[in-house]
Amino acid sequence: MKALIYSVPGETEVREVPDAVIQEPTDAIVDVIATSICGSDLHVVSGDLVPDTGFILGHEMVGRIRELGSAVKNFSVGDRVTVSPAPYCGVCASCRRGNYAHCQFGGVYGCGETYGGFAGSHAERLRIPFAARDMIRVPDHVSDESALAISDALTTGAGGVTKAVTQQGRTIAVFGCGPVGLSAIHYATIWKPAKLIAIDLVPERLEIARQMGATDVISAADPREELQRITGGVGVDAAIDCAGVEATFQAAIDSLAPEGFLSIIGIPHKPVSFDIAGALRNGLNLWTGLADVGPAQTIMDYIADGLLNPDAIFNHETTLDEAPALIKTLMTSRDHGIVKAVIRP
Ligand SMILES: [Zn+2]
Ligand SMILES: [Zn+2]
Repeated sequence: MKALIYSVPGETEVREVPDAVIQEPTDAIVDVIATSICGSDLHVVSGDLVPDTGFILGHEMVGRIRELGSAVKNFSVGDRVTVSPAPYCGVCASCRRGNYAHCQFGGVYGCGETYGGFAGSHAERLRIPFAARDMIRVPDHVSDESALAISDALTTGAGGVTKAVTQQGRTIAVFGCGPVGLSAIHYATIWKPAKLIAIDLVPERLEIARQMGATDVISAADPREELQRITGGVGVDAAIDCAGVEATFQAAIDSLAPEGFLSIIGIPHKPVSFDIAGALRNGLNLWTGLADVGPAQTIMDYIADGLLNPDAIFNHETTLDEAPALIKTLMTSRDHGIVKAVIRP
């Protein structure tokens, strides 16, 4: 089968590799219909996330089941499915506590040995471990793009929202309108916020943010003043930082109303410092962590019922053969206009 390999730092290439095959009775093999490029793929390729090379990239996938291990009884060959980016066993001590992101036998597809050594989805076929519990059936009327969103961006965005938004009718600000930020905005609409404010510097992304449900958009390097104006000087009840830069982190803290909640799901490259005494005075509630992949089925139900439609995030499509050039573009250029790219192997 053909697959996109992270070859050396800064480079990817398409290679012919051995077919994905069943290794355990709990496995499934899928023919990949579509797989999307994630910001973390670019982190891997830049060489700053994992030390090893030579593995198949990718962890966001929708595919059709080609073969099932003997223990997988709840799916049929031919079913269209998606998966969480992080396979988890469902039975270890962490999984039994509901901490699927910390599964002792889990990891992340396409991120090398550091993350469990699971081959990635940027390939013609993918092996899915723990398939009976890890696969999510995609209803016929749900698009490939929506299924791809569930396999990372939307689940991650939803995780940040769930940790910061405590009740309906609140005021929410999302900092950074990449795929995860846009997904957080979109998922936050479920909470019927009084104000849902999108912050980014790229006009096209703010336009999509409006499509995804933002009531207000701010295009400013320092959004504090504008946030105070929009909230009548009160500040926001919940902030979700999807930007991963220190200036935004500070602005997010400063934008919060007393006893406000901040979720950090954008990962800064370097340590950041902040004023804990000020946070104490304001009663800051801060959460960060890996997205909880548990609610993926609930999110699929929202999409199937028409409550969510994240397809506008996916605004570019390519083939496996052209993926190395696209990845290079995404890593080196800023004005490519691509929010999220789909590869159809
Ligand atoms: Zn991803
Ligand atoms: Zn586990």
